[in-house]
Amino acid sequence: MAALVIAEHDNASIKAATLNTVTAAAACGGDVHVLVAGANAGEAAKAASQVAGVAKVIHADGEQFAHGLAENVAAQVLAIAGNYSHILFPATASGKNVAPRVAAKLDVAQISDITKVDSADTFERPIYAGNAIATVQSSDAVKVITVRTTAFDPAAATGGSAGVETAGAVGDTGKSKFESCEIAKSDRPELTAAKIIVSGGRALGSSEKFQDVMTPLADKLGAAIGASRAAVDAGYAPNDLQVGQTGKIVAPQLYVACGISGAIQHLAGMKDSKVIVAINKDAEAPIFGVADYGLVDDLFTAVPELVSSLEAT
Ligand code: FAD
Repeated sequence: MAALVIAEHDNASIKAATLNTVTAAAACGGDVHVLVAGANAGEAAKAASQVAGVAKVIHADGEQFAHGLAENVAAQVLAIAGNYSHILFPATASGKNVAPRVAAKLDVAQISDITKVDSADTFERPIYAGNAIATVQSSDAVKVITVRTTAFDPAAATGGSAGVETAGAVGDTGKSKFESCEIAKSDRPELTAAKIIVSGGRALGSSEKFQDVMTPLADKLGAAIGASRAAVDAGYAPNDLQVGQTGKIVAPQLYVACGISGAIQHLAGMKDSKVIVAINKDAEAPIFGVADYGLVDDLFTAVPELVSSLEAT
């Protein structure tokens, strides 16, 4: 029995989500192997080989993997799938793009967004926006799994000494083609990897006020900025900042919710944060039900005061 983790990487380094997925794979029992499918991705393969608990890295290289096109990565996974009892992907945008293709081709049910490994064939996963946890048992020969990374501690990035094996790279499937990408540049930490997140809701009232109020707080705390769906839908914040059931799932050390009511769909994305602070002028707002610290106040006075206090420290 061996588990294969599909690495998320940028050809030079391994993304943090891979480390959490390695921990989930180790809990399945058996050896943990990591597939690095990339273009000139030797450095990423080397980084994967240093992850604690990894027994082997399989490195498939070729221009067809340069942009992580799901069709090509899935074909590479399928080329080596026969050796594995478990194939695990982080439940990120790219993991969720590749995993269903692999599961369909193997004719097995995908086990999505697991939060716990009970045994080699039994897993826990949230349902109904995190309001219930389902325990699912799979009788499929190969378990194709996506992992909710916030539910598993990251494996140590160093300390391992796995061998790197070169695998024959599958050819370009020709089913999709990379055209271009526009990546928003930001000095802020990435939302899903940030230790601190300050999040704004509909109460902010406009994109200008969202910027004016939330940015100084984020700057002071070295935080990433998040938003509720209502704030995103109203155009106060860009789409990629949305936290929640249909946005990003986060679990930072500190989550500061400003003017967010705490609808279950928002809580589904942040309630596992270590410390939750809520600022809301309605003492009955549901966000206070999950908050460790709550302040009933107008955010337009409370947040600037908080920023001034932080400046004074
Ligand atoms: P509101 O619910 O309008 O709350 C605003 C809050 O601000 C209120 O509590 C109010 O008391 C407070 N407030 C107002 N003025 C001030 C002030 N001056 N100072 C302090 N507090 C103030 N939502 C998400 O966030 N993420 C998701 O991923 C998501 N997915 C969804 C998926 C589905 C299928 C559905 C149906 C809904 C989803 N939603 C999601 C929407 C969700 O149900 C809520 O509508 C949304 O979270 C509300 O956003 P909000 O808290 O910013 O706005």
